[in-house]
Amino acid sequence: MTTSTKESGAAAPAGSGPFLSVRDLYVRFKTEDGVVKAVDGLSFDLERGKTLGIVGESGSGKSVTNLTVLGLHNPMFTSIEGEIVLDGQELITAREAELEKVRGNKAAMIFQDPLTALSPYYTVGRQIAEPFWKHTGASKKAAWDRAVEMLGKVGIPNPKERAKDYPHQFSGGMRQRAMIAMALVCDPDLLIADEPTTALDVTVQAQILDLLKNLQQEFGSAIIFITHDLGVIADMADDIMVMYAGGAVERGTVDEVLRSPQHPYTWGLLNSMPRLDSDLDTPLAPIPGAPPSLLRPPSGCRFHPRCAFQGEVGGARCVDELPLLPAGRGGACHLTAEQKQTIFVEQIKPRLR
Ligand code: SF4
Repeated sequence: MTTSTKESGAAAPAGSGPFLSVRDLYVRFKTEDGVVKAVDGLSFDLERGKTLGIVGESGSGKSVTNLTVLGLHNPMFTSIEGEIVLDGQELITAREAELEKVRGNKAAMIFQDPLTALSPYYTVGRQIAEPFWKHTGASKKAAWDRAVEMLGKVGIPNPKERAKDYPHQFSGGMRQRAMIAMALVCDPDLLIADEPTTALDVTVQAQILDLLKNLQQEFGSAIIFITHDLGVIADMADDIMVMYAGGAVERGTVDEVLRSPQHPYTWGLLNSMPRLDSDLDTPLAPIPGAPPSLLRPPSGCRFHPRCAFQGEVGGARCVDELPLLPAGRGGACHLTAEQKQTIFVEQIKPRLR
């Protein structure tokens, strides 16, 4: 069942707050084994024309958060509390017909795997044209012309002819471009890109990232870019939110988070990134352990079973007390600002060079 702390779909008028505001979001799934706490009290804002990079391992809640923003969860098994306001419209309490209008018109998503998102039975052109005529009321001819135009914009050569192809006739990179065309065909104000380049080789990945940046400039969309790759985030985003076990553990501008990270989990992510200048024999340094089960998340700080620095905090505080994410800079961690600074400068930074 979908629940909310709010009673009404009405919200602040458009333009009076952040373009997207997520407040105290809790998403829980009922399973045979118990309740999965997929998102646990998450808050963030996003302004128009800006890109927020959400980074974290699988199961950190980044994809669930964004599927919830678009109302793409199964209401039979999902319980949602909190507030999601997009351009003045509250989405958690919105009816499905209203969400349908939001999806495609105002917000759209690019999925990781275009093969599962594109239907094999319809031509690429038809699949791009359909949301356009559905949402804008344009004629089918005008929608087809728009699909051809969008295929051209995303760099598909000979778009007039290629629009008549089926997805299997496109390469992986071309299918991803077609998905981007489909997502942008209605000129959405919010674009959510969920690991959009993971399945692509590095050259095509770079082309797709450039394409997204160029299209953002042209359309002025806000982008949420979900990835586990901090290198991609550095290239794409204005701000970063680091997620772990369903919550945000750190957020800031790209520069702040990458130059002066404030949480041991962010240190671990940075440390596990491959570096161009390192010796090929140098092993990567993965974060020890595995992300926790969200059926029974660890007590206190969710990261404590994997954290090498809880001894610095002393006592059992890390095990007993959930650290809160401060409103400004800083991580959701019990280490003091001085301790973080000392550990980062003496132990972490030298390894990142
Ligand atoms: Fe590590 Fe404790 Fe900070 Fe959690 S609160 S990240 S366990 S030091």
